[in-house]
Amino acid sequence: MTEVSVTKDAVPTADDLVVLRNVNKHFGALHVLQDIDLTIARGEVVVVIGPSGSGKSTLCRTINRLESIDSGEIKIDGRPLPQEGKELARLRADVGMVFQSFNLFAHKTVLENVTLGQLKVRKADKKAAEEKARNLLDRVGVGTQADKYPAQLSGGQQQRVAIARALAMDPKVMLFDEPTSALDPEMINEVLEVMQQLARDGMTMVVVTHEMGFARSAANRVVFMADGRIVEEAAPDQFFSNPRSDRAKDFLSKIL
Ligand code: ADP
Ligand code: MG
Repeated sequence: MTEVSVTKDAVPTADDLVVLRNVNKHFGALHVLQDIDLTIARGEVVVVIGPSGSGKSTLCRTINRLESIDSGEIKIDGRPLPQEGKELARLRADVGMVFQSFNLFAHKTVLENVTLGQLKVRKADKKAAEEKARNLLDRVGVGTQADKYPAQLSGGQQQRVAIARALAMDPKVMLFDEPTSALDPEMINEVLEVMQQLARDGMTMVVVTHEMGFARSAANRVVFMADGRIVEEAAPDQFFSNPRSDRAKDFLSKIL
């Protein structure tokens, strides 16, 4: 196996928003993240791809500390991840996360889903929170669904609400973990279009996805993971037309 890496300048700059240095994590005997070095610049869109079980979700989850790490360091906007308490709640608000399974609050309306975090974590005023929520719901194309419950919406609509909910916290970075994998095919594009627009608007994004069209058109960089390691990183054109590692070649030959 050839290991190829085009890691950028190792010296952090003011524009480095997410920095992982030599991050390691185990689940028991499984070394799920191995010496991960990854720097994401402000405004950058990084697509993470790789075989199932390679550690992509775990990587995302360490960035907002849904998972702890065993060694190494993670910084968001120059600050190490807090361990607990209010600081951690604020970090989670700064790092928006969208999951495959939407994870909306089932017993709250769409509007409540998008105001809750603003009220609890950001201590926003109720009226302002609702106005912001309605604007965001309009922006992701579900403004007319505000008073419904999640179960009354399609999967594509629910996922767009989940995106609006994360955006309501004014996150510095958005993590998407296979946001379209649970959707019926006809709903995939409506979610990808919202993500494309976010990328165009300059949001810093880490996107785990099998949607190679999205990777080609929206990503600044593709990170390919296998067996807990970053095996290869490259601009999308370069990665898709000329993958350098055997692992990436093999992976692409199966999915393209
Ligand atoms: P991916 O998202 O690339 O499919 P994951 O990060 O979900 O990979 O998982 C990487 C490996 O870690 C898999 O072998 C998975 O079974 C294992 N794993 C993930 N979460 C846990 C956990 N909470 N406890 C034990 N093993 C886990
Ligand atoms: Mg996963």
